[in-house]
Amino acid sequence: MVRENCGVVAIYSLDGKNVIPMVIDCLRALQHRGQEAWGIAIPKKTPYKEIGLVSEAASKFNILEEKYVSHAAIGHVRYSTVGKSNLENAQPLKVKDLCVAHNGTIANVDELSNMVGGCTFTPQTMNDTLLAAKRIVNLLSEKGNMSEALGVLKGEMIGSFCFTFVTDHGYVFAARDPKGFRPMVLGYHKSTNSYIVASESCALSAIGGQLLRDVEPGELIKMSDKGLEHEIFAIEKPHSHCVFEYTYFAHPTSIMEGINIYLARKRIGRYLAKKFSLSDADIVIPVPDSARPAALGYAEELGVPFEEGLLKDRYSRKGPFRSFIEPYHSDRVEITRWIIPIREVIENKHVVVVDDSVVRGTSSIAIVKTLRQAGARKISMMVSYPPITFPCYAGIDFPSQDELLAHRVTNGDEKANVGELVAKSIDADFVGYNDTDTLADAIGLPKEELCFTCSTGNYANLGIKPLFKTRAQMKGE
Ligand code: SF4
Repeated sequence: MVRENCGVVAIYSLDGKNVIPMVIDCLRALQHRGQEAWGIAIPKKTPYKEIGLVSEAASKFNILEEKYVSHAAIGHVRYSTVGKSNLENAQPLKVKDLCVAHNGTIANVDELSNMVGGCTFTPQTMNDTLLAAKRIVNLLSEKGNMSEALGVLKGEMIGSFCFTFVTDHGYVFAARDPKGFRPMVLGYHKSTNSYIVASESCALSAIGGQLLRDVEPGELIKMSDKGLEHEIFAIEKPHSHCVFEYTYFAHPTSIMEGINIYLARKRIGRYLAKKFSLSDADIVIPVPDSARPAALGYAEELGVPFEEGLLKDRYSRKGPFRSFIEPYHSDRVEITRWIIPIREVIENKHVVVVDDSVVRGTSSIAIVKTLRQAGARKISMMVSYPPITFPCYAGIDFPSQDELLAHRVTNGDEKANVGELVAKSIDADFVGYNDTDTLADAIGLPKEELCFTCSTGNYANLGIKPLFKTRAQMKGE
């Protein structure tokens, strides 16, 4: 399978209640969006940051909740696309009196660093969020308000953003880029009289909050003692919601643009079964965990038994982690190495294994090998996401084209049979990829409102023709 997608949260209690326990719970619910580091910021304090999972710091929560008491706070879980994976780059970041948390990617950091002045961007010394924060602080002092500052920034910046901000004056802001690449929702928590903005609605569910609506692309939300205010700082149509959220990234319980992720994934499986109706299949199994609903949908549509044939070892060092968003190859290998087959389910069967995507191919190779060792007679792989052949500049870690399996096997030849070549490369008997039309239909959103750039190579939604960099250049490795 694929890392600054990230999760952000912002909470303001109109009753003046301490919101830190709710921020922690929201970050735990958003952990699937970033496993590398997390942090919390409140007015007039240095942001609190930790490396690793939120739950790993559980013994420090009491101290944190005593030292960081506030009715206004933001939080962040990190998965890096630009900048090194270390505590310094963990978020929220503070520039002057503004703390910032960012979900997205800024693709033109070099140009932006020239505008900030007095700093040169290198991934070793800075991350894209720090640059954006510095630029916003400059623009705020020039323009005098956040909406105008964001309006200018979105014209200067290439990429995607969902920002949450807290100021030393006690204001909380949240903003979503005008294309709506990354998700963001607005909710309400009744017993504390709090407004909440989060990357996904699963964070609201985790604290007993109520989903009010999506934050509109190009919308700025402001929370203060005056209550909730909102305005549109930019309109850009059509929108470009990331399809990868629907197939892999988002939590199955979440609702995005009115679509429940679990049900969307199940429909994707059903549509795949109509596209590739493998009549001689004996069983359908998922690659754990995110492909489970699609495998269920595929099995139901085909009328073939759904089975659990592969199980993750939760007790291994990286057992609870998601392989795609791990920053280091060795850790991705560690996760896929501890997927254990149930021989009695697999032996002598034509196994249809459903995966959400094939990115670098690391997990696909390991999974096919595991199924063969468990005695599978024939292995067909169904992939919810179309072939990924181009880097993402809008928040997901497909930084370099040479890492992408579908690109490597086709060598850039658009007419090549990518399914056949990938099957050969991962040692499967058959690989059936989804296509962009079928995927958009299954999700239930108009295709023109969705981003498929990593499959099509059409960067018009970002307004760029990128010069692809190597992974080492992107990461400063
Ligand atoms: S390029 Fe792909 S991963 Fe990136 S935002 Fe678009 S659909 Fe999502």
